[in-house]
Amino acid sequence: MGVHEEVLRAAKDMLSRGLTAGTSGNVSGRLDNDQVVITPSSLSYEEMTLDDLVVLDLDGKVIDGHRSASSEKGVHLACYRKYDEIGSVIHSHPLYATMFACARLPIPAAVDEFAIYVGGEVPVCEYAMSGTDQLGDNAAAMLDDVGTALLASHGMVTIGPNPDRTLHQAGVVERAAQVVWGARALGGPVPLPEKVNRDFAGVYKLMFRGNSE
Ligand SMILES: [Zn+2]
Repeated sequence: MGVHEEVLRAAKDMLSRGLTAGTSGNVSGRLDNDQVVITPSSLSYEEMTLDDLVVLDLDGKVIDGHRSASSEKGVHLACYRKYDEIGSVIHSHPLYATMFACARLPIPAAVDEFAIYVGGEVPVCEYAMSGTDQLGDNAAAMLDDVGTALLASHGMVTIGPNPDRTLHQAGVVERAAQVVWGARALGGPVPLPEKVNRDFAGVYKLMFRGNSE
């Protein structure tokens, strides 16, 4: 499957798994030539075909496509420019993670093995208006050690090696947000041993970011 097909499939799966609503959110993948293929703005995921995807260079110049690229392309491009090792970016609006984003609370690595897929606690980046380059810079700045960051009062951004793994990670984060929300109603999650999350973070770096530090 080529990158275009992977992006389209992840975009449709993002909607069907409830990780976004309506036409919100967007999915992209890096091509071999360091260009990026991204979903268009304001088109339903059910209707979307390969022909609707847009190819951009890393500065945002349109290389191919007849639609306008997602209005949140700045978040995607900032991540690709900062992290050479990543092959996909997904911006989503999952319900529970967005609750944390609105409360501006990080999602702790409270579920066993969470840190393997995400790297550790999901931070909240500083607020910037959607569609601005500043939002991209704020989000990319949080992703040195983890694969997902919350966009304050908005949603989340997830980076990974390919669209499939990146969407999987977004699902892990959303489920953890729901679990932590519920665990807090029961008195709060008991922290995992620090060493466990440290070791899992090492596995994350090795598996998904190409180094173990
Ligand atoms: Zn958004």
